[in-house]
Amino acid sequence: LCSIPEKPDLCSTSSFFNSTALSNKSLPNILSLEKLNLDGYFSFDNIEHATKDFGNRYHTHPAAVLYPKSVSDIASTINYIFNMGSTSAITVAARGHGHSLQGQAQAHQGIVINMESLQVPEMQIQVGEKPYVDVSGGQLWINVLHETLKYGLAPKSWTDYLHLTIGGTLSNAGISGQAFRHGPQINNVYQLEVVTGKGEVITCSEQQNADLFYGVLGGLGQFGIITRARISLERAPQKVKWMRILYSEFSRFSNDQEHLMSKNSFDYIEGFVIINRTGLLNNWRSAFSPKDPLQASQFISDGKTLYCMEIAKYFNSEESDLVNQKIENLLSELSYIPSTLFMSEVSYVEFLDRVHVSEIKLRAKGLWEVPHPWLNLLIPKSKISEFALEVFGNILTDSSNGPILMYPVNKAKWNNQTSLITPGEDIFYLVAFLSSAVPSSTGKDGLQHILIHNQKVLDFCSKSNLGVKQYLPHYGTQEEWRAHFGPQWEVFVQRKSTYDPFAILAPGQRIFKRR
Ligand code: FAD
Repeated sequence: LCSIPEKPDLCSTSSFFNSTALSNKSLPNILSLEKLNLDGYFSFDNIEHATKDFGNRYHTHPAAVLYPKSVSDIASTINYIFNMGSTSAITVAARGHGHSLQGQAQAHQGIVINMESLQVPEMQIQVGEKPYVDVSGGQLWINVLHETLKYGLAPKSWTDYLHLTIGGTLSNAGISGQAFRHGPQINNVYQLEVVTGKGEVITCSEQQNADLFYGVLGGLGQFGIITRARISLERAPQKVKWMRILYSEFSRFSNDQEHLMSKNSFDYIEGFVIINRTGLLNNWRSAFSPKDPLQASQFISDGKTLYCMEIAKYFNSEESDLVNQKIENLLSELSYIPSTLFMSEVSYVEFLDRVHVSEIKLRAKGLWEVPHPWLNLLIPKSKISEFALEVFGNILTDSSNGPILMYPVNKAKWNNQTSLITPGEDIFYLVAFLSSAVPSSTGKDGLQHILIHNQKVLDFCSKSNLGVKQYLPHYGTQEEWRAHFGPQWEVFVQRKSTYDPFAILAPGQRIFKRR
């Protein structure tokens, strides 16, 4: 074995783009990987998709894509590269469904592992008191939903969009409207199987190899590749009452969101902000179809800023009357604009897979594969009014580039041992600017315009010391990564040197430089 560095190097942006240095060292070594005896195979031609992601702004070419059939394909590949030590510059990126925003699943001149081709045994579902599903890290959440529903079960915590992989969301957090009650997806995992940056296959959980377990959850792919996850399940409801209500005052909107969160009576709480919108939602989150289409026209905000709370209550058919009564009581405690209650009843699958409906429509119009300069922030509750006043009142003049989500979560219910970084307060808000840019436009819907506004929001947060943290973080310098992790930086670096000492894994996150 070659010598293992004690501390991994931190990245500097320039080193990531020094392609000549990398390719000279990588290519001959990568070709030698073909000697490995694998169940799957390397491709040096079928690699184009690995240069792309949903963000559609960063495109780096790998030297090869591994299409693994077994966990040992992944382990042998990484172990081979690890044993080359620093004589090689090869990096390895797991690619889930490629729905990153800034090249996080790419590996410049390295190897991208196509996780969706990993063929581990079929999903295994355990019924009983503490039900769970064992599933491949490359599996899509939508498939997990369909399979577990056959047993009347389903995972508890979701993302808004289900065509993402288990490994991809568990490397971040997986946050949606259920997170206030169940925590994010990373808090609903019992066990993981991980291939580390040394090529070891390790099973970990709260009881076994806990340091690796917590490190990998929310760990941005830095410590290992998730090949299998054991995800906790609950009894699945049949149906969902899905509601939207409008507010013209921010304080009423956020007070009501927090009130409902504390009552724990709804199953899902989200919300979004509508600034000076003059048309109906024209983007991927417009799936909602209220019963009375006439009412929907009131969503046009005509120069004003409106706040829309989105809530859902799960139920089974026989509970319908009881649930209606409960909802009526809960709504009577809120102070939304009375005429603006939109309510529809949908199946559980329709509710969870709602964004996919818009995806199909947008794909048909060629509007899905456009640049997505998204910005996701976690904002402490004590600063949310200050943030809203400036950002929705001054910085942004409209919300026509895409939805702006906004909802609180309660960290007291979250496990704080994972690698996920959140603000210091128990309650904080997820605010997500989910913009789509019109390719080659130089106007308000163009990429540059949107990026400038994102930067203005970030500058305001840092100038006003709001204690904001980025979700799905992206930084260009090591100082920024250090600041992001704060006191947890040392633990993060220590884990990197333990589990991936040559910084082989997930180079697209741009945190550590390959040794
Ligand atoms: P990829 O983009 O393929 O990979 C992401 C990162 O994880 C990369 O660094 C990659 O190397 C690493 N990785 C991938 N697989 C593995 C693995 N098996 N083991 C270790 N590391 C791995 N997020 C939320 O929390 N809530 C939402 O509601 C939400 N909605 C979204 C809606 C849309 C339309 C999109 C595009 C994204 C959304 N996201 C949401 C963000 C999403 O969770 C992340 O972008 C996630 O990483 C995407 O999963 P993926 O399978 O495409 O991962």
